[in-house]
Amino acid sequence: MEKAQTRIETKCVQGGYTPGNGEPRQVPIIQSTTFKYSTSEDMGKLFDLEASGYFYSRLQNPTCDTVAAKICALEGGSAAMLLSSGQAASFFSVFNIASCGDHVVSSASIYGGTYNLFAVTMKKMGIDFTFVDPDCTEEELRKAFRPNTKAVFGETIANPALTVLDIEKFAKIAHENGVPLIIDNTFATPINCRPFEHGADIVTHSTTKYMDGHGVAVGGCIVDSGKFDWMAHKEKFPGLCTPDMSYHGITYAEKFGQGGAYITKATAQLMRDFGSTQSPQSAFYLNLGLESLYVRMQRHCLNAQKVAEFLESNDKITWVNYPSLPSNKYYPLAQKYMPSGTCGVVSFGVKGGRKAAEAFMKKLQIIAIETHVADARSCCLHPASATHRQMNEEELIAAGVPGDLVRLSCGLENYEDLIEDIQNALENI
Ligand SMILES: *Cc1c(COP(=O)(O)O)cnc(C)c1O
Repeated sequence: MEKAQTRIETKCVQGGYTPGNGEPRQVPIIQSTTFKYSTSEDMGKLFDLEASGYFYSRLQNPTCDTVAAKICALEGGSAAMLLSSGQAASFFSVFNIASCGDHVVSSASIYGGTYNLFAVTMKKMGIDFTFVDPDCTEEELRKAFRPNTKAVFGETIANPALTVLDIEKFAKIAHENGVPLIIDNTFATPINCRPFEHGADIVTHSTTKYMDGHGVAVGGCIVDSGKFDWMAHKEKFPGLCTPDMSYHGITYAEKFGQGGAYITKATAQLMRDFGSTQSPQSAFYLNLGLESLYVRMQRHCLNAQKVAEFLESNDKITWVNYPSLPSNKYYPLAQKYMPSGTCGVVSFGVKGGRKAAEAFMKKLQIIAIETHVADARSCCLHPASATHRQMNEEELIAAGVPGDLVRLSCGLENYEDLIEDIQNALENI
């Protein structure tokens, strides 16, 4: 049972789990693949979705559900599920409502893994994506829709471009066209932005990032706001609004209502068939991360702000991209959607280009070179020589990752130590 009307700090610590008399204070790890029943009839009711309960951990597990309930409370949603990774969450979030022959509109400024999933792998499954500039006008956005469009997708703060999405603009045009807006809220976290409050319908997370926060476990989550009226757009969403023959003719939107249909379908059908389950042990680690999420996000943002201000004033740095800097193009949108902070990731250019950027990173002592962000430990990446190394200079610029770009994820250390580390490295290039 969810505690009534608590504030977000309290939800981080106590949400999703209320132990009874004499029960464990910490969320128990139910490390069991299966669950015992007295009669076959009891179990049959679960298989028919006539009763709720657990029978096999590929579909649902009590530890995972407890942690999903906490994230659901943080986002202000109606239902949520954990998945094995952020990639699985992005895939399920779209595939739950779009299939072969359908079309989806997505912001072009998204995580590279998501772009590949959409543009290559889901394209092979017969789903077409139109990628739009996140800064497009309403008119340009309207033009991207087709009669078979089933969803709109974007990231609150895009990884790695750090563009800020105008969520209300995207929600408005999505709803005009009778489809939901799905937001990947990984970088902002519900501490800094709750997309449902701005009209988004479904939120996804790579919990691997700030929610875990300690570089421990890969994971994902999907949260439904319960606000999208599937039955009002019946013809677009037959998977939710007509009987599912693989589930004894259940119509999800009728049986589970607006608040439960989407997550029930994603669990009963997609998790059953794809099995992208999070382990109870990983969910336990994730919950430990969530307990301190509020406190950590404040520190990540403070450190990034101080580092970004230092970089902006340094003459060995050619440009700085951080949406909470007043000089940033996205500062007005960041102030509107994330007034108390954005994220801990800053990107910048080193004078002297690609060679200087590589030389600079070699000299860092506290900040480590890693393909990761949102860890307690600060880390950095030079995309041109790592994740994007197959691209030439022109392609790099087109992808928004010029050769001099360094992506820095500010951890939870003392910011003066981070600044000194950067200053030393710049002086020793
Ligand atoms: C990392 C990331 C993903 C993918 O998540 P995994 O947990 O690595 O599968 C998706 N979206 C964003 C914004 C990310 O940063």
